[in-house]
Amino acid sequence: MVQVSESDELPAGLRAVASTLAAGFLGPLRYAADLILPPVCLNCREPLGVHGRLCARCWRGIDFIAAPLCDRLGIPLPYAAEEVALSSAALRRIPDYGRARAVARFDGIMRELIHHLKYSDRHELLNLFAPMLCGAGRDLIRTADCLIPVPLHPWRLWRRRFNQAALLAGRLSQATGLPAEFTVLRRIKRTVSQVNLSWQERRANVEAAFAIDPKRAQRVRGRHVLLIDDVITTGATVEACARALKAAGAVEVDVLAIALVADYPTFYD
Ligand SMILES: [Zn+2]
Repeated sequence: MVQVSESDELPAGLRAVASTLAAGFLGPLRYAADLILPPVCLNCREPLGVHGRLCARCWRGIDFIAAPLCDRLGIPLPYAAEEVALSSAALRRIPDYGRARAVARFDGIMRELIHHLKYSDRHELLNLFAPMLCGAGRDLIRTADCLIPVPLHPWRLWRRRFNQAALLAGRLSQATGLPAEFTVLRRIKRTVSQVNLSWQERRANVEAAFAIDPKRAQRVRGRHVLLIDDVITTGATVEACARALKAAGAVEVDVLAIALVADYPTFYD
């Protein structure tokens, strides 16, 4: 039997008429919507020509992370070295994950945008973050078998109503076609806020905080996992996740985030 796609069911002429009618119908609708909700910068609300963008000033306020990078920690290096370069921090202590990458430093406008996503329910920012993650994580996405968001403890999830890392993983899954696993990795221990903790204290705080659901462990066994989070602060949380995933049989765990505190290896001391 010949499979006919929906768009092939209409003759070419009729398809052209239908698309012209649709454009003629949607055009005024979009115009009316823009009058009610005019497009504005996602950060400062300055009027713009299109929806879902940042104004030039806010865009320039993002401290994008660009090569040359430390291959393990993803932090910028002051100069390009050989093909795979490692920072002195990574050489001193190799992290429990494979490679980390982030879109930008956690400061300036990026800090404000992440704050809008987490605490003001500004989920339209996912439209901005998803293509940014695709760009910054290009190499990691190529080798990944699945995406796993850093989970929240059920109590925190109940209070916040959503897990921003899961939202990012879901949107990245749509963009890349990689499956997102939301229920394999669990946060089983309520941890105190990590703000103002040293790296050693953070490591102790998240130790044994994560576990794999034994009924779903086969979903990571033998697989290359790409762990998704909003911010890498000291790396202690994503390292604890990586240890749990590897103990369950994941062959490698890379980490992709919107932002990182680029001087986080200083916490090692
Ligand atoms: Zn702006």
